[in-house]
Amino acid sequence: MTKKVRVRFAPSPTGPLHIGGVRTALFNYLFAKKHGGDFILRIEDTDQNRYVEGAEQYIIDSLNWCGIPFDEGIGKDGGFGPYRQSERKSLYKKYADDLVESGNAYYAFDTSESLDGHRKDHEEKGKTFIYNWHNRLKLDNSLSLMPEEVKAKLDNGDDYVIRFLTPADETLHLQDLIRGSIKIDTNVLDDKVLFKSDGMPTYHLANIVDDHLMEISHVIRGEEWLPSMALHKQLYDAFGWDAPEFAHLPLIMKPVGKGKLSKRDGEKMGFPVFPLSWNESVGYKESGYFPEAVINFLALLGWNPGTEQELFSLDELVETFSLDRVNKSGARFDPEKTKWYNQHYLQQTIDNELAKLFLPTVKENISDDDKLNLDYVTKVVTLIKERAVFVSDFWNLSDYFFVAPTEYNEKAAKKQWKEDTASIMNDLISVLKPIEDFSSENTESIVKAWIGENELSFGKVMPPLRLFLVGDMKGPHIFDIMAMIGKEESISRIETALNKLG
Ligand code: GLU
Repeated sequence: MTKKVRVRFAPSPTGPLHIGGVRTALFNYLFAKKHGGDFILRIEDTDQNRYVEGAEQYIIDSLNWCGIPFDEGIGKDGGFGPYRQSERKSLYKKYADDLVESGNAYYAFDTSESLDGHRKDHEEKGKTFIYNWHNRLKLDNSLSLMPEEVKAKLDNGDDYVIRFLTPADETLHLQDLIRGSIKIDTNVLDDKVLFKSDGMPTYHLANIVDDHLMEISHVIRGEEWLPSMALHKQLYDAFGWDAPEFAHLPLIMKPVGKGKLSKRDGEKMGFPVFPLSWNESVGYKESGYFPEAVINFLALLGWNPGTEQELFSLDELVETFSLDRVNKSGARFDPEKTKWYNQHYLQQTIDNELAKLFLPTVKENISDDDKLNLDYVTKVVTLIKERAVFVSDFWNLSDYFFVAPTEYNEKAAKKQWKEDTASIMNDLISVLKPIEDFSSENTESIVKAWIGENELSFGKVMPPLRLFLVGDMKGPHIFDIMAMIGKEESISRIETALNKLG
């Protein structure tokens, strides 16, 4: 029987979730759903010094907003809880002790001052201090001390940490689902601390114990954790546990230059790096992105479907996703592309929904009148949305549907105002006045007939008419605009423009 797929996203609540973290969560989610498995959220909060208030809730809210909720985690017990490591504190000590007992770990009593001293000494000689096979017997630990001395220190309540005893002269053969096989010489590894003097496990111990107890089948995480894989694999072996499969995702790189995407890149270039706003940093949500767009562009950062397809719904992603199409090399972040995705999802969203999102802006800009209703706003959205990337673009694209222009594009005014413009437009007013059915089609056919009968050119009528109604040369079909704002308003705008420009 093959093991049930169970994956976990295991962030530390040290701040807001970066968009790279959301990508890690997404790949875990897709992999779980694809294989009918479980997606677990575990909060790795063993480092109390780095704990940030509100970060945990932020992580949960972000996953929910993105539409990739966890199946199991805080508030959703699947029988493997608690899901916060701080609440599991009491269970880790036993595992650290087991490793000491089996000879895979040892007590180290070195004070931080003495370790700092060693580090300094090494630095002065241009070397790096690593606590491992070549010096551990010269340091203050249960391998170098006599058993009685160790016992005395422990009985005395001296501070100690528990370190992993990395074997010397071995070659580890690691397997990564994305990177293939990796060989590591154990002599370059240090004896990592597994258990701290404050009674808390380190990330390494807690992570392995929890992945084991929570029956995690696949560890899918960012490339920055690749160097930890050697220790993790050794810990599984030392405990005599089957290790999960590992997959280390490529980094998300800066839009330009070298290195990984950072908060500063976003600040410099003006794009969000967090899913939701956090303090001064505006999130994707608050910038007007649709979660579907965010998910879609994140999926293609480091993964490719093997075809030209770029647009995927979440269901399609679940169906198509596979770890063997995740690239080894870093994925460059392209802020323009994120907008392209948003534009697509905006066009897909039904107009009535968009109108609901737009209505508050309309309210802010106009005093309460008959245009302030969902029906009218929906019709406006239908006419202008084609050019929008965000709902926040709507007002600039559509203000003239709600308020008469007070200014006219100067260049256009110069170009459109001719000797006979005033008389033509005055005639047009008399054509419009008697029209009873002011629908776009009817008005259009009457105006066009009038142009034909009087041997006027379209160029003499339509461009100035647009300028007068809109204040600029932009906007959809002019008769649609007239039908929307109505006969009286259309005539009044023409009159105003004649007065102002004449
Ligand atoms: N707590 C680690 C983090 O903050 C988890 C790494 C892992 O997935 O093993 O990303």
